[in-house]
Amino acid sequence: MRILIVEDEQKLAEIILRSLQGEGFAGDIAGTIADGLHLATSGHYDLIILDLLLPDGLGTSLLQHLRELRNQVPVLILTARGDIDAKAKSFAAGADDYLSKPFALPELLMRVRALLRRSPAMRDNLIKVADLEVDRDNHQVRRAGRRIEVSPKEYSLLEYLILNQGRVLSRSMIIDRVWDQSFDGVTNIVDVYVRQLRLKIDENFEPKLIRTVRGLGYSIDIEYFS
Ligand code: CA
Repeated sequence: MRILIVEDEQKLAEIILRSLQGEGFAGDIAGTIADGLHLATSGHYDLIILDLLLPDGLGTSLLQHLRELRNQVPVLILTARGDIDAKAKSFAAGADDYLSKPFALPELLMRVRALLRRSPAMRDNLIKVADLEVDRDNHQVRRAGRRIEVSPKEYSLLEYLILNQGRVLSRSMIIDRVWDQSFDGVTNIVDVYVRQLRLKIDENFEPKLIRTVRGLGYSIDIEYFS
């Protein structure tokens, strides 16, 4: 799950990004409407957190533009203008939720989760492959009923694989969804994380669920092995 933060207060944007990353989300920051629009239309985002007052105009203009392009990504407006008029205008422009500054980070995270749950990919809280279970509310992973500890990044990778089970995901697709725009490392970081994940969810269990498709990427698949 990848989130775009359009916010010109750099410090606030970074605090939000860090707390999202702590929950296993990937994210990017844009400081202007122009940058935000560029990122939103060129990358895949599952949610946009959008400040209202930006250096080059109102966040609602970015939102209207996206909706005109039939981009239905959930948008959470964030602003110091908590008056009813500002809220009404945001919802009229196509916002899905609204949070007034100052806000508590746990509330922001709660709203982010609630919005993501409405998207088709997030509708099921408990996702499964064979006897592997992932609870998306609390990020708990279990295999054969045994709790498995995973890092936020491993969680993110596993969730992406399971949501696309049966489908081969290339290293660049995985990087695009699980890492953020600023990531410029080598794509073998994916191999490193897949190896770690395998040790945790496959090493001591049968059947093995993570499949390497030589030259293409990875998939998580029960059919292949059964
Ligand atoms: Ca602002």
